[in-house]
Amino acid sequence: MFTHRHLLGIEGLNQTDITTLLDLADQYAAQNRGPHKHGQALAGLTQVNMFFENSTRTQASFEIAGMRLGADVMNMAMQASSIKKGETLIDTAMTLNAMHPDLLVVRHPHSGAVNLLASKVNCAVLNAGDGRHEHPTQALLDALTIRRRKGRLHRLTVAICGDIAHSRVARSNIMLLGRMENRVRLIAPPTLIPSGMDQLGVEITDDMREGLKGVDVVMMLRLQKERMDGGFIPSSREYYHRFGLDAEKLKHANEDAIVMHPGPMNRGVEIDGTLADDINVSVIQEQVEMGVAVRMAAMDLLARNLGIVKPTISDA
Ligand code: ASP
Repeated sequence: MFTHRHLLGIEGLNQTDITTLLDLADQYAAQNRGPHKHGQALAGLTQVNMFFENSTRTQASFEIAGMRLGADVMNMAMQASSIKKGETLIDTAMTLNAMHPDLLVVRHPHSGAVNLLASKVNCAVLNAGDGRHEHPTQALLDALTIRRRKGRLHRLTVAICGDIAHSRVARSNIMLLGRMENRVRLIAPPTLIPSGMDQLGVEITDDMREGLKGVDVVMMLRLQKERMDGGFIPSSREYYHRFGLDAEKLKHANEDAIVMHPGPMNRGVEIDGTLADDINVSVIQEQVEMGVAVRMAAMDLLARNLGIVKPTISDA
């Protein structure tokens, strides 16, 4: 049973929630590969996507997911909206709320903004990434990709490499993988490891070759230059030399290790472009594919909990 009203982070999910969501997503993944992609789970419901930060794959993925489930999907053009005129996040949310959406998908540059918004509206809210805090659907789609490739989602060793400090993807993944009883190893320069990480039950190293030993999954992160105010790395070239994943460094991982990246990629900075495209090891395209299935499952499960009372004719 998935009893949540919102999907704000991995933090509030237990093992059963995660497994329920991934099982349903697996069914949607199969449906998405066939000729009949459309269902009715969200028929009659209104889904609004509010992206206060740029996004390519996440926004497209939520939009496709909503359309495949029969929702009316609206993308708010946040760049051109009243936000530019000084309206606060809460004012915007209350205005939208008055139009009775059922599902609100929100991305925001500030950590905690999506939780705040969820406390003010009547509909189900899905966090599509808030600052450095959480990106739950990314961690879930990564988990589904891993489970499909490795046949399980427990007792694996997963390396998360690169810019941990600025990454909501890393935070959500550390929580999810830990909750499902996997070993997580963080590999990054000390400047890109936030303090307090050692309390999360992860192993930490700044030696890529050492860190990759015995690893089943190598998860690379983008160097998030837009969130840095200088001084984190000496240069992109030096960073690639020490922390960029290439075929030589990958040899230190298990022979059947898979390579992941949430995108967008900086080729030649955190990952070698040829390796990223090598379908024998890279599952990056499958991550994108699983993104649609996971978002369909998340919206379907939340919609079942909306408790909508359909108006009768006499109420109209
Ligand atoms: N697309 C992911 C995010 O929104 C990862 C990234 O931007 O590097 O957090």
